[in-house]
Amino acid sequence: MNDVPAEILSSPRVLLVEDEKKTRESVAEGLRMELWDVTAAADGGEATGLLERGAFDLIVLDGMLPDRDGLDVLRQARGRGVQTPVLMLTARAAEDDRVLGLEAGADDYLAKPFAFVELLARCRALLRRPVLGAGKLLNCGDLQLDTRARVAVRAGKEIALTPREVDMLEYLLRYQGQIVTREMLERDVWKQAHRFTSLDNVIDVQLMRLRKKVDGEGAEKLIHTLRGLGYRLGKEAG
Ligand code: CA
Repeated sequence: MNDVPAEILSSPRVLLVEDEKKTRESVAEGLRMELWDVTAAADGGEATGLLERGAFDLIVLDGMLPDRDGLDVLRQARGRGVQTPVLMLTARAAEDDRVLGLEAGADDYLAKPFAFVELLARCRALLRRPVLGAGKLLNCGDLQLDTRARVAVRAGKEIALTPREVDMLEYLLRYQGQIVTREMLERDVWKQAHRFTSLDNVIDVQLMRLRKKVDGEGAEKLIHTLRGLGYRLGKEAG
């Protein structure tokens, strides 16, 4: 999957956060027509819960939500190391809203009302960005992976990895700060979505081996196991 824009990967995972039912449903339907994998949330609390339990390639986030401010949801996710591109929807084209959104970590914004084609174009542009797509170097703390040379380095020292381990590490780094489930690894790294027998044990064993190599002795733990959920790569903050 090196250098392949995320957009053309099977189906980008999109989190759509919008309290207005009509807008939420029509945008979700439109994106699903593009065969994107859409998860919709109606408020900030729901969005935060989803962000803590899953991983997304793109977040479309309404700024004005009934419970929590969209900016607040965004700041919290960025604070946990989530690097997923975010398109903010703003009610007004006010300069202040845009500046605040960008400061909180949004990558782009779209003022309401908008045409669906405009939203789709912005989403596509964000999915093409290097953070999830064609980036060469992926980092987390003192861990670095060169996706082209397929070489991983921790604290300046090269880590000897098998090709599968490089694939796993690249995937975890792309979704850093987010929970990567075994189903995701099975589908996107092992490329076996509909196997009769689950690969869970195989994945667990290989992940354990990868973690031993990456985190080693004495180093800050970067790969975390979340019981019953999956794995998360990132600093312990979240
Ligand atoms: Ca709203």
